[in-house]
Amino acid sequence: MDKTIFQKIIDKEIPSEILYEDDLCVVIKDIAPKAPVHLLVIPKKLITKLSESSDEDSQLLGHLMTIVKKMAKEFEIDDAFNVVINNGENAGQTVFHLHIHILGGGKVELSSNLITN
Ligand code: AMP
Repeated sequence: MDKTIFQKIIDKEIPSEILYEDDLCVVIKDIAPKAPVHLLVIPKKLITKLSESSDEDSQLLGHLMTIVKKMAKEFEIDDAFNVVINNGENAGQTVFHLHIHILGGGKVELSSNLITN
């Protein structure tokens, strides 16, 4: 399987401004922001999508949420922000390496992400 764009960023094969990094994850700015602040929290472990995660990933998933909180505070949007995970193509997922969107700094328009028949 070809590496996803996020795997290449994690492996430092393509340049990217990494805002935060630890053993388990990286945080970058979304290249096409849909809010004044739009960050992506990406686990280093390749989990293609949330529904493919296992019970063993529960600590990692919890860790990602603590990083969401930390980044929201750092970017001074902790008063109001949205957390989004697109799971699957029909939910708008385009990169098949789990990532958490943090959106804040203004009114967020999520309607484009909502499921329509
Ligand atoms: P999703 O649609 O949930 O899979 O989200 C993928 C997100 O990755 C989109 O919001 C893209 O704008 C973003 N994205 C794609 N390539 C890059 C990149 N090289 N650096 C930062 N964000 C990216």
